Amino acid sequence: MQDRPRRVRPGSPTSLKKANQALLVRALQVAGALTQAEIARVTGLAPSTVSNIVRELSARDLITVSRAEQHGRAVQAVRLSRSAGLVVGIDFGHRHLRVALADLAYEVLAEERVPLDDGHKVTDGLSEAGRIIDALLAEAETDRTHVIGIGMGLPAPIDLRTGQVGAPSILPGWVGVDAATVASERLGAAVRVDNDANLGALAEARWGAGRGAESLAYLKLSDGVGAGLLIGGQLYRGRSGTAGEIGHVTMNDFGPVCRCGNRGCLETLVSTGAVLDLLEPGHGPGLTIVGVVALARDGDVSCRRVLADTGHHVGIAVANLCNVVNPDRIVIGGELAQAGDLLLDSMWHTLNRYGIPSAVQTVDIVLAELGARSQLLGALALGLQGADPVIAALVRTAP
Ligand SMILES: [Zn+2]
Repeated sequence: MQDRPRRVRPGSPTSLKKANQALLVRALQVAGALTQAEIARVTGLAPSTVSNIVRELSARDLITVSRAEQHGRAVQAVRLSRSAGLVVGIDFGHRHLRVALADLAYEVLAEERVPLDDGHKVTDGLSEAGRIIDALLAEAETDRTHVIGIGMGLPAPIDLRTGQVGAPSILPGWVGVDAATVASERLGAAVRVDNDANLGALAEARWGAGRGAESLAYLKLSDGVGAGLLIGGQLYRGRSGTAGEIGHVTMNDFGPVCRCGNRGCLETLVSTGAVLDLLEPGHGPGLTIVGVVALARDGDVSCRRVLADTGHHVGIAVANLCNVVNPDRIVIGGELAQAGDLLLDSMWHTLNRYGIPSAVQTVDIVLAELGARSQLLGALALGLQGADPVIAALVRTAP
């Protein structure tokens, strides 16, 4: 028979203590690690209350306190301990699957990336993810009972009303599938799903180039092209999850047919595939984006030209985005971000030409800081969103 939950009278000293503990735990869940002074600032709790809670929860092994360095001086970093739970992040890309296992301070304990055929079946993709999760748990000498959240990123719009993966997706096998439900069934735990560019925006805003921005757009320039919009600190997904599908902005009515069925979308001009297709006739097969950037830096005229034109085309779409959304920061991520100034210089030139001056003067364009891992880290953050596992653990282990 299940224990009946103990009723806690609102306003009683016990409920206040629990509420303060929960406040502190949530602050650590969002930030990863904080000093006691930072906890007091973030939560508004008195420093003495913070140190009491830290002492109590570390005695119950729910948080750990360790020495760290901050601005050149030694501080005590407080974080949620491994025994408070673990989180899994899954990132399905065009031709890869990446899985990470992290503790609640978002420290990655184990990680694996495997190639995956872009025409794979959903069940095969999820079986592979499940196999990797077990391998990572074994590597970290733990098991599935410790996993309290799983977040998954897919390169497609996700309709949060129905859970369905929308079109266009770079992974055709997933379109129409209720990804969260199917993944939860296959993996045996609750899985939260979101679009890959949204997860990139979330991770960059929390740990990378988007820190401190009020409203930001994260652009993923890879095999597919998309944007994650974070407005007032919240992801803006739109009615059916297609907000930020900047890759399907029409650039040329009679351009190449896009995978979405339209013609001349931005993605048909600037995806990694489009860049390589333009350069391969002159440079031979087997060219990579890393190779194109290296050649351009060595002065190769056609590689420089194609990257600059890519920046110009993205710049037109970014100018429209700035005019309509007026963000304070744009973070450029995805494989093409490696081109750096080779892309950004022409993007700025175009932005200045097409953007409304007041929107352009107040926007910052920066390169993503988390590289290829931003989607994966975003998936980890998503895995813990809404879940209150540690709060549950606090109640469970209450003395
Ligand atoms: Zn399209």
